[in-house]
Amino acid sequence: MTDPMHVCLFDIDGTLIHTGGAGKAALFEALRTGFDIAQPTDQVAIHGRTDRGITRDLFRHHGIADRSEHWERFREEYLRHLPDQMSRRSGAVLPGIVALLERLQSRDDVLLGLLTGNMRAGASLKLKHFELDRYFDFGGFGDEHLDRIDVAREALAAAQNRLQNPVDVDRVWVIGDTPGDVRCGRAIGAKVVAVATGDSTHEQLLATNPDHLAHDFSDVEAVYALWS
Ligand SMILES: [Mg+2]
Repeated sequence: MTDPMHVCLFDIDGTLIHTGGAGKAALFEALRTGFDIAQPTDQVAIHGRTDRGITRDLFRHHGIADRSEHWERFREEYLRHLPDQMSRRSGAVLPGIVALLERLQSRDDVLLGLLTGNMRAGASLKLKHFELDRYFDFGGFGDEHLDRIDVAREALAAAQNRLQNPVDVDRVWVIGDTPGDVRCGRAIGAKVVAVATGDSTHEQLLATNPDHLAHDFSDVEAVYALWS
């Protein structure tokens, strides 16, 4: 009998790419054009959260009822603004990511997936912009879940669905750039790889006690060794 598959669940923002602030700018533009909010608040935390959770808090702050038609309007406006904001800002694929994804994808004992707070269509737009969409065709997303832990559960269920077999949680890996990624990885029993290429510092991530911590993935061999 062959060993079970490794399942590698990647966060997007701050882990695979940075958008140069395009995601946040598109959120704010959606409030402006969809809800006439001239000055969206900077008081709502964004990093490591879900789009649905961020939006609920933005709605609350600005006195917008948290109803499904408002969420749908927000979602449409956000997706309308995101490509424009992406093209106007200098985002980038983060160091070592393409080489790491190429090596992992070439293996028949590794399944690549997403575990992101982005809404599904937003994740797709961001990855296509940087030509990373070819590595991913399933995951957990932030369209419905307020809490990232529920996104992790969705991603794990999607992996089980893909493999048609129960997943060995000892071989599930969550790769992310915030304490929220570490927390949701732990909640599903996964191993966690943290990388300080996003908004959280190396020290902040160290305090969350991940299984592996890197300043970035420019030393591809060092991180790839986790799966060899
Ligand atoms: Mg992130």
